[in-house]
Amino acid sequence: MNLATKNKNPEIYFQENTLLGKIKHAREIISDAIEEYGDKVQVACSFGKDSMVVVHLALQIKPDVKIFTVVTPFKPKETFEYKDQMIQHYNLNLVEFMSKEKVDKNLPKTNPDKCCRILKVEPTKEAVKNLDAWICGLRNTEGRTRKNYQEVEEKGGLVKINPILNWTELDIWRYMAIYNIPIHPFYAKGYRSLGCEPCTNMISDIEPEREGRWIGTSKCGGECGIHTMSLKQ
Ligand code: SF4
Repeated sequence: MNLATKNKNPEIYFQENTLLGKIKHAREIISDAIEEYGDKVQVACSFGKDSMVVVHLALQIKPDVKIFTVVTPFKPKETFEYKDQMIQHYNLNLVEFMSKEKVDKNLPKTNPDKCCRILKVEPTKEAVKNLDAWICGLRNTEGRTRKNYQEVEEKGGLVKINPILNWTELDIWRYMAIYNIPIHPFYAKGYRSLGCEPCTNMISDIEPEREGRWIGTSKCGGECGIHTMSLKQ
C-alpha cells in the first residue's frame, strides 16, 4: 500500500497496535471506569512519565478527575518541585499521602521491603481505603515483574485499571511530545524509571526500564508492593 492509498484510509492509524489506536482504547477504558465508579475511582500518580500520561488521558475525559499521590521522604527534591509544577500547570484535583512513621536513613539499603511497606504500601492502603477502583500507569514492558498484569484486575474488593498496559516506552515519549507534557528533569539526565533517590539508578538503554530500581538488593528490578499486595486488608 503506498502513502497516497494509506491517506485515503485514516482508519489504519487507529488500529490496535498504533499509538492512536492505543490512545483511543485507553480513553475508552478510563471513560468507562469513571462512568462506572464515579467518585469511587481515582488516578494514582507518582509523577513519573507513565503516571503523567495516564493523568493527562484522564484529564481529557474529566478535567477535575480525582488523583492521589504517595510521597516519601526519600523522593528527590526535583520530584517534589515537579509535582508542585504539575499541580499548578494542570490544576490537578490531587490528594497527597505520606507516612507519619519515621524510618532510619539506612533502611532503603538494609531492608527495602520494610521501607517500601512503611513508606509506600501503607500510605497507598490509606489512599484507596474508601475507593472501589484506582487507575494506574503500569505497563507490561517496564520490567520482568510486570509481564502478566491485566487491563482490569480485582484484588480484595479493589478494582485496578491499567489503561496503558500495552504501551511501549516509545509510545509514552511520543504521547508526551505530541501533547507537550512537561518532563521531570531526571529524564534529561538519563534516568528511565523514577522512584526514591536511594533506590533509583541509571541503566543502559537495552535493559528493561525498571532494572535501575533497587540495584544491589533482593528487590532489584522488582516492585515496591503496591501492585502485588492486597490493599484492602
Ligand atoms: S523505594 Fe527505596 S526509599 Fe522508597 S520506600 Fe522503597 S525502599 Fe524506601
